[in-house]
Amino acid sequence: MKSPFLRLAVSVTVLLSCITLAWGGSLEGIPKHSRVVDVKQVIPDMIVAMQYATADNFTGKVLYDCNRCFLTETTARKLGKAQMELKKQQLGLKVWDCYRPLSVQKIFWSLVPDPRYVADPAKGSRHNRGTAVDATLVDAQGNELLMPTRFDDFSSRASHDNMDLPAQILKNREVLENAMKKAGFLPLPTEWWHFDDDEWQSFELLDIRFNDICRD
Ligand SMILES: [Zn+2]
Repeated sequence: MKSPFLRLAVSVTVLLSCITLAWGGSLEGIPKHSRVVDVKQVIPDMIVAMQYATADNFTGKVLYDCNRCFLTETTARKLGKAQMELKKQQLGLKVWDCYRPLSVQKIFWSLVPDPRYVADPAKGSRHNRGTAVDATLVDAQGNELLMPTRFDDFSSRASHDNMDLPAQILKNREVLENAMKKAGFLPLPTEWWHFDDDEWQSFELLDIRFNDICRD
């Protein structure tokens, strides 16, 4: 006869393995339209430079297990439209962030608890739904165009209403904004690089770990 203590220990272990399975990173259980896809499947020629897959970001830590941009298929197709539009001007997109797990959002909020720049994980970011993208412009050779600030510059210089910039930089920001708006994205007033799919509310908050989707 097992002791009550041993029985409790076994029950806790079983419960924990069930939770681990449920959060095992599989896309099963997530409605099909809310699942994320690798954007390279939709836009093979887009430059992907995920900043949180390196330590060169405001946290100083590697937070993603691979340099891959995941978005809902709907959002990825819209991004493809923006890329096509830019190609007509011998330009293209370079993406810095796409889908972001909710667990990473919590790390960001602990470092920058300022809703102008980081979404409160209690509500979740549109990045957590795979419906937001951080992007800049590149020329036909893949060189970044001059923009108002670097990525994740948490200052008023990154705002769309910052007009105190050289003419060429204002033009570059406008070209990016126009291409994204035309493709179905909404700009964020405080960050020139951030764009939300205008249908973001139709998709679910996700917390799939990069560790799991990177293997797919
Ligand atoms: Zn963003």
